[in-house]
Amino acid sequence: MLDVKVAARASEAADSGAQQVDVAVVGAGFAGLFLLHRLRKAGFTTVVLDSAGDVGGTWYWNRYPGARCDIQTVDYSYTFDPELERAWTWSEKYATQPEILRYLGFVADRYDLRRDIRFNTKITAATWDEAAERWLLTTNNGASVSCRHYIMATGCLSEPKPPEIDGVKDFKGEIYFTGRWPHHEVPLAGMRVAVIGTGSSGIQSIPVIAEQAAQLTVFQRTPNFALPAHNGPTSADRLAPLQQDLAGFREQARMSMVGVPLPPATEVSWQLTDAERRERFEKGWATGDLVVMLTQMWADQGVDADGNALLVDLLREKIRSAVKDPATAATLSPTDHPFGSKRPCLDTNYYATYNRPNVTLVNLRQEPIVSITATGIKTDKRSFDVDVIVFATGFDAMTGAIMAVHPITGRGGKSLSDVWAHGPQTYLGLTVAGFPNLFMITGPGSPSVLSNMAVSIEQHVDWVVDRLIAARDAGFTTIEATETAQAGWARHLTDCSMITLHRLANTWYTGANVPGKPQGVMPYCGGVGPYRSICNEVVSQGMLGFQLTGPKGAEQCNDGEIVRLQPDVRLVLNMLAGMNLPPLESFGAQGARDFIAQFNATRPAGRPVGEIVDGTLPGAEGPLAYRLYRPATPGPHPIVVYFHGGGWVLGDSQSDDPFCRDMCRRTGMIFVSVDYRHAPEHRFPAAAEDGYIAARWVADHAAELGGRPGPILVAGWSAGGNIAAVTCQLARDRGGPRIAGQLLLNPVTDCSFERPSYTDNATGYFLTRSLMYWFWDIYCAPADRTDPRVSPLRGQLGGLPPAFIVTSEFDPLRDEGIAYAEGLDAAGVPVEQLQAHGHFHSSFTMVDVVITGVSGRVRMAEALRGFAGLPKQAEQGDQAAQPDRNVSRQINAAAG
Ligand code: NAP
Repeated sequence: MLDVKVAARASEAADSGAQQVDVAVVGAGFAGLFLLHRLRKAGFTTVVLDSAGDVGGTWYWNRYPGARCDIQTVDYSYTFDPELERAWTWSEKYATQPEILRYLGFVADRYDLRRDIRFNTKITAATWDEAAERWLLTTNNGASVSCRHYIMATGCLSEPKPPEIDGVKDFKGEIYFTGRWPHHEVPLAGMRVAVIGTGSSGIQSIPVIAEQAAQLTVFQRTPNFALPAHNGPTSADRLAPLQQDLAGFREQARMSMVGVPLPPATEVSWQLTDAERRERFEKGWATGDLVVMLTQMWADQGVDADGNALLVDLLREKIRSAVKDPATAATLSPTDHPFGSKRPCLDTNYYATYNRPNVTLVNLRQEPIVSITATGIKTDKRSFDVDVIVFATGFDAMTGAIMAVHPITGRGGKSLSDVWAHGPQTYLGLTVAGFPNLFMITGPGSPSVLSNMAVSIEQHVDWVVDRLIAARDAGFTTIEATETAQAGWARHLTDCSMITLHRLANTWYTGANVPGKPQGVMPYCGGVGPYRSICNEVVSQGMLGFQLTGPKGAEQCNDGEIVRLQPDVRLVLNMLAGMNLPPLESFGAQGARDFIAQFNATRPAGRPVGEIVDGTLPGAEGPLAYRLYRPATPGPHPIVVYFHGGGWVLGDSQSDDPFCRDMCRRTGMIFVSVDYRHAPEHRFPAAAEDGYIAARWVADHAAELGGRPGPILVAGWSAGGNIAAVTCQLARDRGGPRIAGQLLLNPVTDCSFERPSYTDNATGYFLTRSLMYWFWDIYCAPADRTDPRVSPLRGQLGGLPPAFIVTSEFDPLRDEGIAYAEGLDAAGVPVEQLQAHGHFHSSFTMVDVVITGVSGRVRMAEALRGFAGLPKQAEQGDQAAQPDRNVSRQINAAAG
């Protein structure tokens, strides 16, 4: 429909007795109530609409037996008013649904909110009136609403999923949905009850239903991890920090990763012995706290499939010890997803319930449901007669609740369903380009369900209301995200999702639970604190990514992307900036070496490899030290001669140790990391000549080193990449050794500082332009700089070994790396490039810090294996021998 027609029709409707307000809010749950309170205080006329009969949102509808919150209730509370905090005391660590509902009622009364809430009212359409710059909302109950701003506080899990099973209508017994549980007492005593679904709702309700029912049959499609809640009064340990410093405690939660003030674990799994890991696990298990188990075991549990698998083994052990029948225990044990990638559950007696004589578990993976019949449930093997069926089958999450309030028609007649046809598109999870003055609280693309919702809701509400106030004060009447900002946010979301393991499971986080729904990790995986700082940065950068307009042509548009760096790179650079370090070059050569050594000493120890051997090889002026990393697999292995980074001035085998270990493990090859001579003690061409000599010696002694005879490979990072590239040229020109391939990671290839990457990334990304000037000055006199032994780009490029060249977007060396790749390609050398977006010079060597570098290292390893003629990792023969590790390897491969 033409824009003008849409606008005219909406304007007509607006004239016909609509309720006129500044802001309309959908939903009277946690978010809607706080919105109403804040908007009112800010002087906006506001109406809240909700299809429920009272306040409560999700806690109004989810009244099934056993419903409780599963984040400690002291954390799952409003924090905006310390008086309110003092006025309410939770009776239990995990409050029941009735108590939470009472709390929300108490809040509504305390701030006199109900008078502006229209209950039992559903919005049937929302249309942007272009001429009036207002939203027109039609409802199923009473007047329509005309509002300047429209805010969806619809929650993330409020739209129950249809049963998706044939024959539901034929069933003659009672049917209940956990997400729409009746308000009246549901008699289950003496009944034969079926529960379909074993997510949080099923797992909470099953033990309670089992106590009441004569017979309970649980139909499980996918087993889930569940942890005992150990409910009771909130522990003194948990209360103490709150009582001592309430404001500080709440602030810590706001800046934390998941909205609960627990510092992240710092030790990685391989730094802990089996006994230490078990001790942590048992302690965590005893706390009865999901957040503890999800974040406090070891630092790699949520980002690395192997680290996660160690935890999964311990969790499965618990299931086996709780469930008497081994076959039932096996059916209840998850095998298809890493712990935490699918929302784990908190239970009370869940596993033990399967020891009861009146409880049966049906594994739908072995006997799928064929249909529901008049008398019960029929699988492809058996029929189960029941009186009651409980669907605990979940929700059309994140987008479902928003799309349920449809149609939503934005600028130019654009429909939100069309815009989201391939998955939700948002800026910050808060707004959508083309839908001015429309906001979502905890929408897709915000931390929402991966966080303590109470903390995320307060942050969103504060941010939105503050923006409305600022726009009003500045005379703007519309706020709208730009397409650029939205596309940038989509990229950032994907980057963030690569850090976690969420993308490796089929869950409602990814839309996989709803047939036909577009797939992709919907919540923001980058953490609550980082997200908050990004939202604040949008404001401090003049509403970056928003267009604001007002009467008489007032307009402001500061277009752009708020985050272009990889999320973990951003954290590292922010941390470094916060340290206010003097420039490295100001320390002098030895001072800089000492500083880097000190810095590296704080890193976690690298991952174990089969063997590490230190040795020396004969150099031009005396022995050169090397460190050899041998894989744990039987040899002989191909050998990679590796050159560390450090601008020909700094670094040693220790500085690149985590990278060498990681690559040794990934490639299954020996890495020999060579300590070439450094400037200023040994200037050009010492490093280049050492590189060549080392490569020749390693090739000559391959068998003694346990390596495979034949061609070697070379690799290097930064100045080490320069040495690797030069070594290949010298080997070609000096008759050997034979080199099968070269991996050049962020290499120095040329003495020019004129390429744009030197200007674009001159400062702010750790390796600065002035540091590069300093390195060059120390290593190489100006007259020597065009020598191919330091500027290999200026040498002959034909006849060189195939190359894999990695460059990083935010690196002064980016363009010379790309130029070298292009030069090799033009000279007929097979070359593959990885131009890593959002990365900086150190992304790939900060092995266990920059997790988004993993996929790059997977590709580097595959390239090296390819050069050496080895099969791709997935084709390796040792998989069958280790079935458990098979899963984690497949997950790792998918992660790559
Ligand atoms: P859910 O986690 O999506 O679980 C739904 C269950 O139903 C899954 O086991 C699913 O199996 C199964 N299922 C779905 N469709 C099915 C079908 N057609 N046939 C057979 N089985 C089917 O939903 P939920 O338990 O309602 O929980 C949703 C989320 O709400 C939770 O993850 C949590 O975030 C929140 N929640 C929180 C609390 C709390 O705070 N206390 C309580 C309840 C819920 P598959 O896994 O194979 O799809």
